[in-house]
Amino acid sequence: MGLLLVFTGDGKGKTTAALGQVFRALGHGWKCCVIQFLKSGKPTGESLFAAREELLDFRTLGLGFILPGQDREPHRQAALRAWKDASGALASGKYRLVVLDELTYLCSFGFLDPAELAQTLRNRPGDVHVVVTGRKAPRELLEAADLVTEMNAVKHPLDAGIQAQEGIEY
Ligand code: ATP
Ligand code: MG
Repeated sequence: MGLLLVFTGDGKGKTTAALGQVFRALGHGWKCCVIQFLKSGKPTGESLFAAREELLDFRTLGLGFILPGQDREPHRQAALRAWKDASGALASGKYRLVVLDELTYLCSFGFLDPAELAQTLRNRPGDVHVVVTGRKAPRELLEAADLVTEMNAVKHPLDAGIQAQEGIEY
């Protein structure tokens, strides 16, 4: 039975927990898809790894973080294109596991109606597992989920002025 897992909260560990699920699924020979809704361009450890792994389709479909004062419209259009792509990946029957990384922000930004999000996830084929990550998961998503884990930020190196490092953050 396909499960909907949600990793949310302000602490580090949401995307990496989702990638841990992918790691586990790949070991069982499952075809997996990861769609990143915000990240763009610059390669990460996970995207470099995915390029060598034929069971794993990895797509970064965002335009990066929205800076204050920036025109939101291009971001909205990219986000909705990515959402269409994600809906297609869910319905295709091609993947046993689909990760929708930072999907919650589409709702926070008002680009996507949380009720539509929850409905699309509920309507997916019954054997597809889904992982959604991102802070501030909307109520509708939490209600649709089978598992919700909230990452709690107890301590983070950035608080001590230690910048993001390759291999740990990206
Ligand atoms: P990861 O990809 O390492 O699992 P994440 O997906 O939980 O982290 P995001 O909310 O997507 O974290 O944020 C991405 C970046 O922000 C990461 O580089 C992460 O280390 C950093 N970050 C996460 N939580 C905090 C925090 N509480 N304070 C400062 N930076 C944080
Ligand atoms: Mg993340």
